[in-house]
Amino acid sequence: MEDRHVFVCESVKTLENRFLGIDGFQVTYNSLLRNFTTWKIGGPVWAMIWVPDITSFMITTAALDETGIPWRILGKGSNVLFPDTGYQGVIVRLAGECALVRRPKTTLLEAGGGTTLARVVSVSLQESLSGGEFLVGIPGTVGGALMVNAGCFGREIGDLVESVLVRDRKGKIHWLEGEHAGFCYRNSFLRDGRFSVMKARFRFTASSADRVRERIRKFNRIRKLTQPVGEHSAGCVFKNPEKEFAAKIIDSLGLKGLRSGDAQVSPKHSNFIINRGTATARQVQFLMEWVRSEVYRSRKLLLENEIEVW
Ligand SMILES: Cc1cc2nc3c(=O)[nH]c(=O)nc-3n(C[C@H](O)[C@H](O)[C@H](O)COP(=O)(O)OP(=O)(O)OC[C@H]3O[C@@H](n4cnc5c(N)ncnc54)[C@H](O)[C@@H]3O)c2cc1C
Repeated sequence: MEDRHVFVCESVKTLENRFLGIDGFQVTYNSLLRNFTTWKIGGPVWAMIWVPDITSFMITTAALDETGIPWRILGKGSNVLFPDTGYQGVIVRLAGECALVRRPKTTLLEAGGGTTLARVVSVSLQESLSGGEFLVGIPGTVGGALMVNAGCFGREIGDLVESVLVRDRKGKIHWLEGEHAGFCYRNSFLRDGRFSVMKARFRFTASSADRVRERIRKFNRIRKLTQPVGEHSAGCVFKNPEKEFAAKIIDSLGLKGLRSGDAQVSPKHSNFIINRGTATARQVQFLMEWVRSEVYRSRKLLLENEIEVW
């Protein structure tokens, strides 16, 4: 393992030298993943690389693939549980041009894969474009959201997608029509096919700033009333079973507030597990398995993870 660690760090160092002086290309070694996730959980990653544009992303990932170094993109880390032992590979983050929003057509916004949903919502407000207000309060990026077809209040991000620019597993880059991305409840072909999302074009409807603002406020209000906003979490831990709500089931079994160390089933929303301070991945997983087995025992329903465990 030690040799492998040295090999990965040396390979990344070579890449770093190649990009010397390129604005925005940055590398860190052995950073703690807990500093890059909303759960504030996770051990060290061997190397983390910030790429400022698609070209540097393509060169970086081709080099990593060539040397067989495992790598994955991380957005805002709001849907992942990293192990306490961390990630033995390279994490790539999309920055600079990969996190910008443009308006190529009247009702179309184009956003880089690393753009936060908050930024997309704020640009849509500036431009008086309606349709994406429900995304407010989802603390992820465009790439992370498209992977799982993030949604709430009866809407999903896939409904807005006109097309997505992806890098496929073979390292080829191409546009994919939204309707061919296989968006379904908390999943997509993008995820199954291990595509990297470089940018996406979203369709909106022309509206007025006042109406867009009012809808944003409404969704924000509901979130604050029903979810532990401000606590460290990764949103809903389990997918909803067909025609049911996981939170309601967990609640009905009296599991609200259940704790394992500093990990706790949120007293406000039973499908959230919050980190009250120093929770570990093991404690979260213990709690998840406890809840899953209780639900199975009493309802014969096997809850599926909504979050990703790396
Ligand atoms: C308080 C709170 C509320 C939430 N509310 C909601 C909600 O209402 N609805 C909902 O659906 N989710 C919700 N979530 C979960 C989460 O915010 C979403 O799933 C979000 O879309 C994840 O985006 P991310 O950038 O954080 O992805 P990450 O957690 O960083 O990554 C998730 C996965 O996507 C991959 N990925 C990230 N970027 C890319 C890319 N550019 N290309 C390819 N793969 C990529 C990663 O490799 C990983 O496999 C909530 C989370 C929190 C903490």
